[in-house]
Amino acid sequence: MYDLKGRKIDYLRLSVTDLCNFRCIYCMGENGVCKRSHREILSIEELAEIGRAAVACGVGKIRLTGGEPLVRRGILDLCRMLRRLDGLTELTLTTNGAALPEMAVSLKEAGVDRLNISLDTLREDTFRAITRRGELRQTLDGLAAAEAAGFTGTKINTVLLGGINDGEIGALAGLTREKPVSVRFIELMPLGVCADWPQERFISADTVLQAMPQLEPIGTDGVAELYRVPGWVGTVGLIRPLSHCFCDRCNRIRVTADGRLKPCLHSDREIPLRGLSGEALERAIREAAAVKPDRHHLAEHHSDSRRNMNEIGG
Ligand code: SAM
Ligand code: SF4
Repeated sequence: MYDLKGRKIDYLRLSVTDLCNFRCIYCMGENGVCKRSHREILSIEELAEIGRAAVACGVGKIRLTGGEPLVRRGILDLCRMLRRLDGLTELTLTTNGAALPEMAVSLKEAGVDRLNISLDTLREDTFRAITRRGELRQTLDGLAAAEAAGFTGTKINTVLLGGINDGEIGALAGLTREKPVSVRFIELMPLGVCADWPQERFISADTVLQAMPQLEPIGTDGVAELYRVPGWVGTVGLIRPLSHCFCDRCNRIRVTADGRLKPCLHSDREIPLRGLSGEALERAIREAAAVKPDRHHLAEHHSDSRRNMNEIGG
């Protein structure tokens, strides 16, 4: 499926819950979400039907996200249902990793191809300060569990937080010395709870290149620019929505856990999918993708999205 600008749309990020066991300071409020009633959140069957319809429209890759997708009851059933779809080339999941020690093997068996694990720091005190209720050990154990379960090509998502974790760029990138992972540094985006944060928190991913002059460019992977330290097994990625707008290459649509399709992360345009199925749902997805906004306005330090990130999925 193509939008009116001619961009091919073949990637769906499907949010399965807005709840989370962490409370990351840039993602959601201290008290969590104002809990939506059970009925407001898509059922596993509705999520699977949206996945089916998206694949029928030409989506090849689905990423499950949240909130924290591993706290969603029925997540393994959903993975199995999606995995059976003809035309789905890749099923991936983004997680904070805390539940991976118990779930990594089941996720692999349920057909998840790859994992993205979020990890912003290797310091225990900073980890507690960022996540408000997580422990570094949980995510590190989760990373090890993913490896033991046979996941390969794991990506580690690190949000750059000026004054908080920019002193750890070398240590985080150092994970790629011996692990075949990709550590991807992501520029913090001003939306929801962090929209009004002081300017010094928003640092350019150039900081990574300055901290690690030995990085050599090796190409791109989707919206990430890839680098490698010669001799190290993994890669370092830069995702720079603020300093290097990649809207002209954007191939994704998002569906929130309450069933609204967002053609752009940073637009407040949302198309309700609830209650639709079969051809009507496919038509709604095609029409919504067609009107994907040209670009966001993050360069002017402004997102039009009215939601916190845990309600969208990143
Ligand atoms: N709970 C899962 C996790 O943390 O990986 C999945 C959902 S989380 C919303 C998806 C990704 O969005 C995480 O990597 C998180 O760090 C990132 N994220 C959240 N808020 C962000 C922001 N304001 N700017 C950039 N990335 C953000
Ligand atoms: Fe939860 Fe992920 Fe948001 Fe952190 S970034 S609060 S782990 S949804």
